[in-house]
Amino acid sequence: MKKILFATSEAHPLIKTGGLADVAGSLPAALAELGQDIRIILPKYQAIKLSEAPRIIASMRVNNADITLLETRLPDSSVPVWLVDYPEFFAFPGNPYLDASGKPWANIAERFALFCRVVVEVAMNRAQLDWQPDLVHCNDWQTGLIPALLSLEPTHPASVFTIHNMAYQGLFDSNTFASLNLPGQLWQPTALEYHGMLSFIKGGLAFADRITTVSPTYAQEIQTAEFGYGLEGLLQYRQERLSGIINGIDTDIWNPATDTCLTQPYSISKLADKQLNKAALQQTLGLAVDEKQPLFGLIGRLVEQKGIDMVLDCLPQMAELPLQFVLLGSGEKHFEQQLQTLAAQYPEKIAIRLGYDEALAHQIEAGADVFLMPSRFEPCGLNQMYSQRYGTLPIVRRTGGLADTVTDALPDTISNGTASGIVFDDANASALMEAIKRTLFLYDNKTAWKKIQRNAMTKDFSWQNSAQQYLALYDPL
Ligand code: ADP
Repeated sequence: MKKILFATSEAHPLIKTGGLADVAGSLPAALAELGQDIRIILPKYQAIKLSEAPRIIASMRVNNADITLLETRLPDSSVPVWLVDYPEFFAFPGNPYLDASGKPWANIAERFALFCRVVVEVAMNRAQLDWQPDLVHCNDWQTGLIPALLSLEPTHPASVFTIHNMAYQGLFDSNTFASLNLPGQLWQPTALEYHGMLSFIKGGLAFADRITTVSPTYAQEIQTAEFGYGLEGLLQYRQERLSGIINGIDTDIWNPATDTCLTQPYSISKLADKQLNKAALQQTLGLAVDEKQPLFGLIGRLVEQKGIDMVLDCLPQMAELPLQFVLLGSGEKHFEQQLQTLAAQYPEKIAIRLGYDEALAHQIEAGADVFLMPSRFEPCGLNQMYSQRYGTLPIVRRTGGLADTVTDALPDTISNGTASGIVFDDANASALMEAIKRTLFLYDNKTAWKKIQRNAMTKDFSWQNSAQQYLALYDPL
């Protein structure tokens, strides 16, 4: 049994902006079920959703800040959650990274540096909690200073650093290093310095005992210039400590047979009921209620990573084909505007819903026939796994976790029962368009389509398997 402190900037259902929250809300619970003593630690943001008032368990002074530690529990689990309460930083409207106007917090470096210092105090058992972890599991740049600061302690718990997305590194100018009052010996190219800047993520990459990322393919990709953002050299240097473990999904929340957001829950044995969800979705969205036209769905952040520009390039052509398209997402304003313009041009074919809507996300996963995920890069990706579980075949680019979780529908994979989606290679609109046309062709072959749906729906994406792999990783630490 290991004692594990799991440090994260978000955890579903307490606070969520993306896939990290899903991991932090599931992996600790799966590890607890495997008998581990695990606790989550995260900042107490104003936007955090708590079902009960947390209790005060400690107070401490860290870098001249008076901090209170609160305890609550991860809903539907036995996992304690420790909240770092420092209202001067965290009691403001906004999300963990952006203020209420959508701009990155002006003091974001100070916020997460303080969070990291508190985690180190807890990890070193200096917070009067009478509990010392064997290891600290850190996630993304917001926690990158933890392995670096721990390395300065004569004896300290081990650290694991998981990269959920290399694109976000926590880069700040050199003045920020000085203003954060960080130990001078960390200002070196072998530590936190990156070409004269302060890099939070380097603290994790340079000092953690193990580095993981969220798929085996992405673990290879980030060692190349295309995906490594200048840190590929450091990752190559540490490759013996670097591995990929694919994320699981929450199979209770994402279960078409019990999903309370759906008009009609369904399963493999009642696959025909999926159609009722499609009709309901078409109606909700104001699309033509038509069983025959395949409905393509897309849910996600509207950023270049997700290939939204490629989808925009394809949409005028898609609108001329026998298909419909629904997108739920929010993000860059120019993408939002272009999408809305197209939806106004083709109201019976294209529906755009801007914003964040969990229930609608479930209804799209259930009601769509096809899910589009043409990401330029995708560390793991969750939606392609949800889609497969809902019998909604994903079209994905062969990158990162998409490459590891979707098997392309080719004659041999269809006949041997492994096909579970449509995979294409090049990151451009014509390659995506070809994949869409290939999908339409496949959709017309009802026997093959149903077979692929069944393959997809029976794949095991549960956390148990991933949690076992993390346990094997923790074992020698
Ligand atoms: P990323 O972490 O890069 O945003 P993932 O596919 O790994 O992408 O995870 C995204 C998660 O956020 C999924 O659970 C997805 O359903 C959810 N999500 C993203 N955008 C929205 C939205 N607008 N409304 C509801 N859920 C969303």
